[in-house]
Amino acid sequence: MESPNHRPMCHVCKHRMALAWISAGERGFEESAFECSTCGRTEKISIEVDPMMSDAVGWLTGELKPPR
Ligand SMILES: [Zn+2]
Repeated sequence: MESPNHRPMCHVCKHRMALAWISAGERGFEESAFECSTCGRTEKISIEVDPMMSDAVGWLTGELKPPR
C-alpha cells in the first residue's frame, strides 16, 4: 500500500519531485509544494485533512499560480 505522503511525479520529466514546503491551507486542507530538481517545475497540492477519516487522503493537483 502506498504511503499518503508519497511524492508526485513531474509531468515533464517523470522524475520524483522533492517536497519544498507544507503549510496549513484552507479549513480541512493542508498545502504542500513539490519542486522538480531536474526542470525546476513547482507543483502545489492540497491534501484533504479530515479529522473524522484520518486515513482517507484526497489529492488534488493544480498548477502553481502566481500571486495577484
Ligand atoms: Zn521536471
